[in-house]
Amino acid sequence: MKKFHLTTFGCQMNAHDSERMKGMLTSLGYAEVEARDDADLILFNTCSIRENADNRFISHLGEAKRLKTEDPGRIVGVGGCWAQSVKEEVFRRFPFVDVAFGPGQIHRLAEFLNSDSLTAQGYFEFEEFSGDLPSHRERQFQGWLQISQGCNCACSYCIVPTTRGREESRDPDLLIAEAERQSAEGVIELTLLGQNVNSYGRDLPKETRIRFSDLLRRVDQVDGIERIRYTSPHPKDMREDVIEAHAELSGLCEHIHLPLQSGSSVILKKMRRTYTRERYMDRVAMIRERLPDCGITTDIIVGFPGESDEDFAQTLEVVEEVGYDGAFTFIYSPRRGTLAAEMDGQVSHPVKKERMAALLEVVQRRAKAEAQRFVGRPLEVLVEGPSRNDPTRIRGRSRQNKAVNFEGTALPGQLVEVDITEATSQSLTGTERLLSRIAV
Ligand code: SF4
Repeated sequence: MKKFHLTTFGCQMNAHDSERMKGMLTSLGYAEVEARDDADLILFNTCSIRENADNRFISHLGEAKRLKTEDPGRIVGVGGCWAQSVKEEVFRRFPFVDVAFGPGQIHRLAEFLNSDSLTAQGYFEFEEFSGDLPSHRERQFQGWLQISQGCNCACSYCIVPTTRGREESRDPDLLIAEAERQSAEGVIELTLLGQNVNSYGRDLPKETRIRFSDLLRRVDQVDGIERIRYTSPHPKDMREDVIEAHAELSGLCEHIHLPLQSGSSVILKKMRRTYTRERYMDRVAMIRERLPDCGITTDIIVGFPGESDEDFAQTLEVVEEVGYDGAFTFIYSPRRGTLAAEMDGQVSHPVKKERMAALLEVVQRRAKAEAQRFVGRPLEVLVEGPSRNDPTRIRGRSRQNKAVNFEGTALPGQLVEVDITEATSQSLTGTERLLSRIAV
């Protein structure tokens, strides 16, 4: 049996693509191995969001070169956004690479492996969504449902529209059929996936066109799916019907990830985010009013070109006011091929680091304060496995997407009630409530 090793970089979309790549290779008779040295097929699913993502990947590629030199019969393949961003240049820069393919071309890898092609092959055309490949889920009870591919936005720092193409929504009936299949395979928590999920459906033909909130309602009807999540929404498309769906649907979790990026409308304009600070805060107010217990998390970039002390102060004000349950924070790094990389007013690294430290202080202090609302309450937790930092405890996630570490005997994939006794900015601690297993 041929053996493969796959290294995944980047976002949830890549994590999902890798699950599909593994499912496809397994169906072709390949077996996954832990060590790259043991593999006949060495694969990388790459990210290209930031320059240093490229550099990290290229250091891994060096090891693949060594292994290929040791055994020329090995096949080296590079997929994902970096491959799409450089295309045929992959082979010129790394002649030992045999196959390269874009995020929308995973199925072509099977074609290459089944062909007796001896020359390097690249697949970079943007095509229809590459269908319903078998998926090799990391956890049997948690699944991804990719509802669209590509992005029609043009954020000035982002390369995704170049590497993943225009937004294409998948047919709702096909999506429900896939959700039903995943449920039959044991999935109870389904995460809807897209670069910009809440603009879903706009490009669908009139006769099948539905809104994102309608899709959520249809998924909520699928037997066996106990929890629904989605990522990533765009604040410009976070409309009342989606917030109403949260209030109405029993399966839709009380968590909204709402990327802010900057609290300054001047910087948001430079980022081409198409919303202002006021519009963003208006969305937050609507969520707070309709879903008081909802967890809100975000993404923030510090040190964007032209960001003044005043602009940054406005970002801190928004974080202070919203009180996020968590935040992914990034130091801006220029990405070749993006508008922002050519902008004047690039911020020095020491200033970026200083601002990141100030931002983290506010994010963590506010997140800790917000998390106290869970102490003394029972929360429904989906068990994921042993706690990462205390093997005597179990780890799972609440519906608000808070990590919960607790004492108990529940097993991965079970929904249980946990009495929360303590809360930090990162996670909650508690004890499993006896006889609280929620039958699924
Ligand atoms: S919404 Fe903006 S940041 Fe997100 S993928 Fe699209 S272009 Fe990139």
